[in-house]
Amino acid sequence: LTIAKESTDQKITAYNPDLIKQKQDYEQFLLEFEFALLNEEIELFYQPQYTCQNKLIGFEGLFRWPNNNFPQYNVGQIIGFIEKTPMIHQLGAYVLEKAMKFAYDINQNRTELLTVGVNLSAYQIMSPNFVEIIETFIEKYQIKPGMLDLEITETSLMEDFETNIVKFKHLKSLGFKISLDDFGTGYSSLNYLANLPLSTVKIDQSFIRQLSQQTRYQTLVRLIIDAAHSLDLEVIAEGVETQAELEILENLHADYIQGYYFSKPLPEKQAYALTH
Ligand code: C2E
Ligand code: CA
Ligand code: CA
Repeated sequence: LTIAKESTDQKITAYNPDLIKQKQDYEQFLLEFEFALLNEEIELFYQPQYTCQNKLIGFEGLFRWPNNNFPQYNVGQIIGFIEKTPMIHQLGAYVLEKAMKFAYDINQNRTELLTVGVNLSAYQIMSPNFVEIIETFIEKYQIKPGMLDLEITETSLMEDFETNIVKFKHLKSLGFKISLDDFGTGYSSLNYLANLPLSTVKIDQSFIRQLSQQTRYQTLVRLIIDAAHSLDLEVIAEGVETQAELEILENLHADYIQGYYFSKPLPEKQAYALTH
């Protein structure tokens, strides 16, 4: 019945054992996820980011749930499920705390700071105490500007746009980096580049995938990189998998590279080992 009620199209939902099974799986999934979160079984993996000359500059934190009973769901789908529940606030705070603790650990006795990127979800940003939560962890883990990069997308800002911008203007004024994730998907208006309080643009991997096959995409990526640079923004290319892609991006003056070519997301210990 719930599935029939939630369905937005006008079709009649007949009794369907598959749907019932789906619903049961979903509810079981939520229960087990909540348990895993409370038991700290949710881990943050870290994917290193480099300059084109192979110098480590930081990491992006990506959560993983090892040994879960739902291997059929990928990380993007899991986030989609959790975002429909209040658990997104717990998960969001959990990820922020883990990432900032890691940022503290890897930057001990370091002069050139390494950045740790954290993905933020729309509901998390809209929460009235979003900034307060971040500031609490910043203080707890002595996070300096240059150690934290907050990754946002156009869609994560869309609802309550004006209020969200005020929050990020404040965080940017404290010196923390703000990255626009998945640029090149959705509307990707150049307006965003000019008007959001950003430090970095992350070019989506769907663009990178086309680079070595289509010179038209090289032209497009060159335009994005030049536009970003003329607005004093840095550029990270995401999902770089091959030497050919790396060479093209280096020629187009991309600042940083993230992708399987250098490394997959790594468990915390392995990521830490790269820094010492
Ligand atoms: P994203 O933020 O765009 O993260 C990049 C995704 O691309 C990651 O997928 C990463 O593993 C994958 N990737 C990196 N390099 C390559 C490459 O060279 N080739 C290919 N094919 N893929 C590459 P992942 O970890 O499955 O995460 C999927 C999405 O889930 C993320 O996309 C992000 O939107 C979301 N997500 C992950 N962790 C978190 C989190 O802690 N909080 C929130 N709110 N969202 C998260
Ligand atoms: Ca991201
Ligand atoms: Ca991305």
